[in-house]
Amino acid sequence: MLREWRIEFNQFLLLLAIGGGGGWMLGYPGVGFALISVPYCLWLLFRIKDMSRWLKSGAESDPPESTGVWGNMLDQLYQLQRRYKADINNLHQIITRAQQSTDAIKDAVVVVNKHGDLEWWNEAGGRLLGLKVKSDRGQSLTNLLRDPRFIQYFEAGNFDKPLDLPSTLNPNVVLQFQITAFGDGERLMVTRDVSRIHHLEKMRQDFVANVSHELRTPLTVIKGYLETFIDTLNSDQPHLKRGLSQMHQQTQRMELLINDLLLLARLESDDKERTMTPVSVPKILRQIHNDALAINESKQHKIILDIDTNLIIYGDENELRSAFSNLMMNAIKYTPENGRIELRWWADEEGVYLEVEDDGIGIDEKHLPRLTERFYRADQSRHAKSGGTGLGLAIVKHVLLHHDAKLEIVSDPGEGSVFTCRFPTRLTVKKENQSVA
Ligand code: ADP
Repeated sequence: MLREWRIEFNQFLLLLAIGGGGGWMLGYPGVGFALISVPYCLWLLFRIKDMSRWLKSGAESDPPESTGVWGNMLDQLYQLQRRYKADINNLHQIITRAQQSTDAIKDAVVVVNKHGDLEWWNEAGGRLLGLKVKSDRGQSLTNLLRDPRFIQYFEAGNFDKPLDLPSTLNPNVVLQFQITAFGDGERLMVTRDVSRIHHLEKMRQDFVANVSHELRTPLTVIKGYLETFIDTLNSDQPHLKRGLSQMHQQTQRMELLINDLLLLARLESDDKERTMTPVSVPKILRQIHNDALAINESKQHKIILDIDTNLIIYGDENELRSAFSNLMMNAIKYTPENGRIELRWWADEEGVYLEVEDDGIGIDEKHLPRLTERFYRADQSRHAKSGGTGLGLAIVKHVLLHHDAKLEIVSDPGEGSVFTCRFPTRLTVKKENQSVA
């Protein structure tokens, strides 16, 4: 290009020299220069006009015919334009493929900008969430998905766990929302239809609840007869009496198990509107403490109560009683004779705490993450002796879930365990110096 420019420049200088020289010989050097420069400028202007017309037309056709530096320049522009078009075409194809593949996904994929407005979504976004391409683009996501639970989840910004909600388009469909933050405050929301899993889970819950319920009546009848037989049996039949007593004991265990299964089924069902009323936890803890002292006679544990008697929280009284008493009964079950158990209830700036500490058998660290699963036992060989149902901590977990609370377990085998329920501060009932009976 530089070479062509030099040739063009040299040619122009030569023409100027010829024009200037001729004019000088005739006594008019200025006229000679003008006779060369003016046509050259005109020629240049026409080239520029051709070029601008070609560029204006989109430079799609072949460039205007030209030689020298102009021809070269137009050729290069033409090549650049072709390369640029090819790149755009490639990009277009990549975008189309990406769009086709996201449209093929059954889950809705939605991109929301940092202001919470809808930017883009795939075909399933329209199907599952009812988003309309034309009218909804740029709208705030929470204007379109108005369920208060979704708005709270979206605005809280904690997307560690997904959120399951019934669809607003079809109440029989359950949708699961999973949000991931990316870029500069943007969010990617994936929504999938989890109705089948929910349906199966509901079937499982109903099955357990129904079976437990149906078992109750025959068990009560068997237990009643056993009690009558034991009472009426003569003392000269000790074998029979021992057998019947053991049967009676087992029916009692089955009764406990059925009661726990029914309680767990009730806790799991989301249908119930929970009544959150001020609960006098100190009062409950005193009752639990008294029950524990009565049960505990044979083991002679030292049971200490250390509670803030003015601390009252909003909650479901029956559920809380059940959870706390499960923790207390576990401490009694898994602490050998003459052990020490402490029941604490207090609050600080970060929360409200119920703590049960014992110096019992403790739990190996590897069991801790699974302890709240149904029927999970740290020590299988011990469970028959303990007489537990294996559902106690599962019940505790569900009760705490309903109260937005968390269960923390710290334990050392042979040293003892600390079970801490941490409730959010907002559940505290603000009452100055309230006395609790
Ligand atoms: P279980 O009816 O078997 O006590 P839970 O759900 O209440 O069922 O407890 C699950 C398991 O956790 C128990 O089997 C036991 O191994 C362990 N565990 C619970 N509480 C304690 C405790 N205070 N000390 C030692 N182990 C405990």
